[in-house]
Amino acid sequence: MKSYFRKEIDAIAGYAPGEQPKITNLIKLNTNENPYPPSPEVVKVLRNFDPARLRRYPDPAADGLRDLFAASVNMKRDNVIVGNGSDDLLTMIFRAFTSPELSVAVFEPTYSLYPVLAAMQGAEVIRIPLDQETFDYPVNAVELAGNANLLIITRPNAPTGNCASRELVRNICRDFDGIVLIDEAYSDFAPDNCADFAAEFGNVLVMRTFSKGSSMAGLRLGYAFGSEILIAGLMKLKDSYNVDMLSQELAKANFMDHGYRDQCVRKIIADREKLAADLLKLNFKVVPSAANFLFAAPPDGDGEKAFKILREAAVIVRYFPGEVTGKYLRITIGTPEENARLLEVLEKHYAR
Ligand SMILES: *Cc1c(COP(=O)(O)O)cnc(C)c1O
Repeated sequence: MKSYFRKEIDAIAGYAPGEQPKITNLIKLNTNENPYPPSPEVVKVLRNFDPARLRRYPDPAADGLRDLFAASVNMKRDNVIVGNGSDDLLTMIFRAFTSPELSVAVFEPTYSLYPVLAAMQGAEVIRIPLDQETFDYPVNAVELAGNANLLIITRPNAPTGNCASRELVRNICRDFDGIVLIDEAYSDFAPDNCADFAAEFGNVLVMRTFSKGSSMAGLRLGYAFGSEILIAGLMKLKDSYNVDMLSQELAKANFMDHGYRDQCVRKIIADREKLAADLLKLNFKVVPSAANFLFAAPPDGDGEKAFKILREAAVIVRYFPGEVTGKYLRITIGTPEENARLLEVLEKHYAR
């Protein structure tokens, strides 16, 4: 049968999310979820929620959340857009700023959803390679981005976990003639962030998610900061009711309990540093991480083999085939017990 799909859709394989296996007793360190539950305040809101309210539509713009997020970075409601996960915001951003005539520049390696969204738009992807050993950023990134209309900086980067320096990001925001999207999915785990660049520069969007630091990947909530003009433009192309009523309320309760969130984040950071040190002792190469995962290469540089060894032992991590990434595993930081189990399996195969 002939295909009725647009040629762009027929041409793509679609995004491959990390597995969500149904097996029990599995240690799941493959999708960078938080090992700790969300704030106890969320439980209270859930318990007290009257289901009769669900017959109404939610607040279309999620203004309660916009005000809360805006206040956290000294911006205004009109500087914030809320999405059904930050993947929803990415869809809007690609629709808004990319097309067969308008290309997107990304650093390589990075979040593998970006090229899929570009392909749906029929947009060219300009790949700017990071250093193949250190994953450092090239100083002439703006030059390498050519005439792209959108440039994405993932900070901290996925899957490598390192951070472009604020100085470099600032120079890119200043010099790039297009939209700079700073994807801060993992910024809760980093020593600093770039939210202020969204206020300082008219061409900058800074995006956050509840899926990693806030322990709510199942809820689907993300938000972005930017100038009034950029946010107004994105509001035109969002789904009318893209964030459901329950998500709006639960996210609010969770966000306000920053004490609890900070406590979970601090534990994860401490455990990340511990696991990094333990892997170094096994002669793994470990990229210094500012996120809730480690990008680490076994001593023989065979990431796939290490992935299989762990899988056999019911520990699931992420492996990205490829000349550079194929040497590594991306390991989500779990509870201390989960990390210990991962280490135990690796010690059996790699300790000398
Ligand atoms: C997890 C992740 C997202 C997506 O977050 P959701 O809010 O769950 O859609 C976006 N960007 C990066 C780099 C991520 O790792």
